[in-house]
Amino acid sequence: MRYVRIDRPNGPRWGVVKGEDVFTLLKPPYEGLEYDGGRLALKQCRLLAPCEPTKIVCVGKNYAEHAREMGSEPPGFPILFLKGPNTLNRPDGAIHAPGFVGRLDYEGELAIVIRRRATAIKGKDYSAYVLGYTCLNDVTARDIQQLDGQWTRGKSMDGFCPVGPLVTDEVDPMALVLTTRLNGKPVQQGHTADLITPVSQLLEFITAAITLEPGDVVATGTPSGIGPMIPGDSVEVNIEGIGVLKNQVI
Ligand code: MG
Repeated sequence: MRYVRIDRPNGPRWGVVKGEDVFTLLKPPYEGLEYDGGRLALKQCRLLAPCEPTKIVCVGKNYAEHAREMGSEPPGFPILFLKGPNTLNRPDGAIHAPGFVGRLDYEGELAIVIRRRATAIKGKDYSAYVLGYTCLNDVTARDIQQLDGQWTRGKSMDGFCPVGPLVTDEVDPMALVLTTRLNGKPVQQGHTADLITPVSQLLEFITAAITLEPGDVVATGTPSGIGPMIPGDSVEVNIEGIGVLKNQVI
């Protein structure tokens, strides 16, 4: 299934994408798949982030090449941090670069949207807890992250987490090519087979400590090639089989 969350006159609504159309749902897909009879052309829908997170759990340095470009060897276990729900941004929403930020980076990532409450799950059971996969840009104020010595402010500014355009369970999360483009030029190229901690183990590791709720998001880390964006730039995170998350920096 391929799901979107769209802006409707009465508020956000989830839908299932079939061909060029969206078939709208009565309630979020993780509360049961009930259609409300609505059918809309996908290209006429205003897309929202396809998730409703109480938290966005992220992992740092989950690709060896990226760890090295950050000046360290890959860590021995997943390094987790959070982005707040305030960071959530629409698939084509603008990324606001605050004036006090000296360096604003893109980080293209594969993200997981949670289907069922998950506490202390076994890695082998992970797929029962996953609604699907989507693209995410872990926007980072790199100078603030380094200045503060911890990551809350640098990672969690308003709008610093565009997610979308859709969430799908029709892909193998460990066999995806991820490409980030800045103004059309490829700057990151990764393959999820290179994740140090794969999706199943990552969910086991996270839920041993943190309960994940339906609609929560897990970001799996960024491949090498991170770099800065400035106002006027266009940034795209493209994952084969999912789609293109494209945002403008303002
Ligand atoms: Mg990241």
